[in-house]
Amino acid sequence: MKPVSYRDRALSMDGVDLSSIAAKAGTPCYVYSAAAILENFHAYDVAFENHPHTVCYAVKANGNLVVLRLLAGAGSGFDIVSGGELYRVLKAGGDPAKIVFSGVGKTAAEIDAALSAGIGFFNCESEPELALIDSLAHRRGVKARVALRVNPDVEAETHHHISTGRLAHKFGVDIGGAEGVYERARPLENLALEGVSCHIGSQLMNPRPVMDAVDRVMALIETLRARGFCINHADFGGGLGVEYKPDDAAPAIGEFVAALRARVAGKNLHVMIEPGRSIVGGAGVLLTRVLYRKNTGGKEFVIADAAMTDLIRPALYDAYHEILPVRENGRGKMIADVVGPVCETGDFLARGREITEVLPGDLLAIHTAGAYGFVQSSTYNGRPRAAEVLVENGSWRVIRKRETYEDLIRGEE
Ligand SMILES: *Cc1c(COP(=O)(O)O)cnc(C)c1O
Repeated sequence: MKPVSYRDRALSMDGVDLSSIAAKAGTPCYVYSAAAILENFHAYDVAFENHPHTVCYAVKANGNLVVLRLLAGAGSGFDIVSGGELYRVLKAGGDPAKIVFSGVGKTAAEIDAALSAGIGFFNCESEPELALIDSLAHRRGVKARVALRVNPDVEAETHHHISTGRLAHKFGVDIGGAEGVYERARPLENLALEGVSCHIGSQLMNPRPVMDAVDRVMALIETLRARGFCINHADFGGGLGVEYKPDDAAPAIGEFVAALRARVAGKNLHVMIEPGRSIVGGAGVLLTRVLYRKNTGGKEFVIADAAMTDLIRPALYDAYHEILPVRENGRGKMIADVVGPVCETGDFLARGREITEVLPGDLLAIHTAGAYGFVQSSTYNGRPRAAEVLVENGSWRVIRKRETYEDLIRGEE
């Protein structure tokens, strides 16, 4: 289900007119569909059928408290990568027992906060980290449940900045050396070495590499069990892609999970996954208003009030986001660069793109912006961060106020 569609030539989200939101909430402004977020979460959850599982939403994709509360209410767990994300999840009422802490650079303070909160699992990425968690758990007199994040050495077939599963990447430990790591960690008394995890990359349009990774992890689990380790859970990470371009074909969540389930059936294993983008990406748009048009160097520019500070994905990953006028205007097409006001040539939302002709004052909706959008925004160039809005049950509300100039200087002397 796409949450955004035209009704009487006006773009709406779940029946709510986007131009009325922009008129009241201002632009730039992120708008998310609660229904789409929940539908995607349930697609994962339901597809596991009765296989023991936890869907741990990856907070880094979109960490707004209301989004987290919505997912917590639906029974979601959470994949966090920092103390700040832990704080958010706890504030949102997330169940600590369903939190998994991933990331290559967990600090002692972050680990300790996670132990104190009683999180479910740590995905450990190195031997020194295992030792640190053990000693901090010892100090607290608890046993930390850990999985080693292994690097299954598969090519994720995605953008090189978001591919993580090759040996040359900084994530996890080489799967070939994993057995040795478990053996050396065996004497650490405050660790329960009960899982194996992996995450091979993001925006995966082909599920094949994930399935290859699953097979490799399952083989490792067999070996570890044969050596006497009680491995009772496996975490296969996130990474499922979403459709950014009109002709993109992302794997269906249900089919993806079914393929995964078939590989773990009967193995007496609690399965965890950490989807982020595929839950929130398609559920959000970024609304922006056209400020100016100009033609320079033989190129047509549309200058909008949203910039790379609001949505950095085009500049950072060459990402493509569909851009549609909020009101169908019956005008022809034009080829333009859609850019923001920031003083950087890299500040663009689209380059050389065919879009419907737009004029100053027109509203544009930048599609599939619910993941890695607001969370990667900055205040560069003295730009307060955008507002965030949630559409739910036929109405909408601001779930994060637009920042003010005062917010910009908070904490400065
Ligand atoms: C980023 C990340 C995810 C989520 O990835 P998506 O592509 O958004 O699904 C899950 N797990 C880990 C460890 C990550 O780093």
